[in-house]
Amino acid sequence: MLLESERMLDRMEEFNGDKWIEEFEAITKDAERVQRESLRKILEDNGSAEYLQSLGLNGRTDPESYKACVPLVTHKELEPYIQRIVDGDSSPILTGKPITTISLSSGTTQGKPKFVPFNEELMETTVQIYKTSFAFRNREFPVGNGKALQFIYSSKQFKTKGGLAAGTATTNVFRSSQYKKTMKALQTPCCSPDEVIFGPDFHQSLYCHLLCGLIFREEIQLISSTFAHSLLHAFRTFEQVWEELCADIRTGVLSNRITVPSIRTAMSKLLKPNPEQADLIYEKCSGLSNWCGLIPEIFPNVKYIYGIMTGSMEPYLKKLRQYAGEVPLMSADYGSSEGWIGANINPKLPPELATYVVLPNIGYFEFLPLSENTGDQDQDKTEPTFLCVDSKPVGLTEVKIGEEYEIIVTNFAGLYRYRLGDVVTIVGFHNSTPELKFVYRRNLLLTINIDKNTEKDLQLSVEEAAKVLAGEKLEVVDFTSLVDVSTEPGHYVIFWELNGEGSEEVLRECCNRLDQSFVDAGYVSSRKVNTIGALELRIVRRGTFQKILDHFLALGAAVSQFKTPRYVGPTNGMVLQILCSNVVKSYFSTAFK
Ligand code: AMP
Repeated sequence: MLLESERMLDRMEEFNGDKWIEEFEAITKDAERVQRESLRKILEDNGSAEYLQSLGLNGRTDPESYKACVPLVTHKELEPYIQRIVDGDSSPILTGKPITTISLSSGTTQGKPKFVPFNEELMETTVQIYKTSFAFRNREFPVGNGKALQFIYSSKQFKTKGGLAAGTATTNVFRSSQYKKTMKALQTPCCSPDEVIFGPDFHQSLYCHLLCGLIFREEIQLISSTFAHSLLHAFRTFEQVWEELCADIRTGVLSNRITVPSIRTAMSKLLKPNPEQADLIYEKCSGLSNWCGLIPEIFPNVKYIYGIMTGSMEPYLKKLRQYAGEVPLMSADYGSSEGWIGANINPKLPPELATYVVLPNIGYFEFLPLSENTGDQDQDKTEPTFLCVDSKPVGLTEVKIGEEYEIIVTNFAGLYRYRLGDVVTIVGFHNSTPELKFVYRRNLLLTINIDKNTEKDLQLSVEEAAKVLAGEKLEVVDFTSLVDVSTEPGHYVIFWELNGEGSEEVLRECCNRLDQSFVDAGYVSSRKVNTIGALELRIVRRGTFQKILDHFLALGAAVSQFKTPRYVGPTNGMVLQILCSNVVKSYFSTAFK
């Protein structure tokens, strides 16, 4: 297998975008057959696994037998199997070949990272999706030979009790030689040395990424991160440290905030005194108003800004656009620690309209219609519950345009009919494979009685209320929510961190606007008869969301995969504690109209 992928990468190094697109067109034209073939391969490779053996497939690999024998599961049901793997049982449990690496999903929803098996085959699908979307991207926005400023970070890697390597999926990817070869093939290696990417302290790594970006600023062709959150975080940090960065470039001496010896050694090879460059950067930064257009001013050859920008990342786009000026923002592909799903092949679309085309050969996909399946939400909202209503998933090529579905993944690394918890809507077909839009993570529903508000509904409501802040030149830095049922009637609580101080009058208005902007009929009718109480807006201190990020990093999460939890459930006690201990003001909405 390794040899095969080496060969694939050798092919990649020839960089033949047209050929990659051709291959993609061929598999998407024949999606149904390719799906059957993917399932056959998965089941043949893993037929000896205890999990599949116990389900009575008896060697059958067709979709019909598969669906009849194998139940839909969530992570909860697979946990005992995964735990045995983590603990070092190398018998064929979920896969034919033993799993040697474990990914930690970001776990920002559940409050702690989840273990997910990772293997060579998942790495190959990563390479495949990267090269597919790169081919489409490069056709529209060709990058020259140069460098990428990538805000990528590794999580702490550790050995599990059973001796398996564990780290976030992005860490497993960044560490792989395949990934490095891929980036080289795509002509844009990361401008930062490995010591920075894999440094043990995220704050120091971020500072050095910024410094490397400035050192190579004229060569930078693109700026990227896995999720848009890291991009925004990086440029917000730049606002704080730019003078120190200029001082480092002026003197050629690295700031003493960098204490990790390996990072200091690696950076000293790149950093030389350059007073003219430092003056130029200083002048450019000083001339900007409110940091608008920072990116093109400092990086004159950057072609685009790239990272996952849909779903829970959308609230960051407005601020990111301020930094980006005319430079296009482009959403990266759609995937998870459990495997990739779809590629963004329309890079010209703004992130708000981004769609993803499912690659039929990177897994076997089913879609659970949402309309038939709304009553099974777990009360504690920590996991979607095991399917308990009579709804039937449909196959990849059977989905209907306009419908919403939860994605069910069967991958090459031991997940069979696994409910991912993500809700997507089908917007069209590319050849015979669906093109979908990410809608929300279904386990993030604000609900007290008959109301149902998704992550997306919350985002829209926050966007609407934030308009009130515009007059005061204030912005919502980040936000989250909870339902408080400790008093009767229960009510929604929204936490906001702002970039400055809002007046009482404006914040009261924001609170009312938040309440009025939830359009869900269940919420509106419950508010009218007061079976849901007045909405509460709590303003938290500057830096509170940084503390939440730090909390997740301490648990082993990586900044690269971080997503602010938009809902704080009962299992997220520590996050709740951070939020509550940083509240500076709170407001209740007035009468509901
Ligand atoms: P992780 O748990 O760290 O593996 O993150 C995977 C989750 O991130 C997915 O299940 C989605 O909820 C979210 N995600 C990944 N890619 C995208 C995307 N392109 N748009 C929106 N959300 C995404």
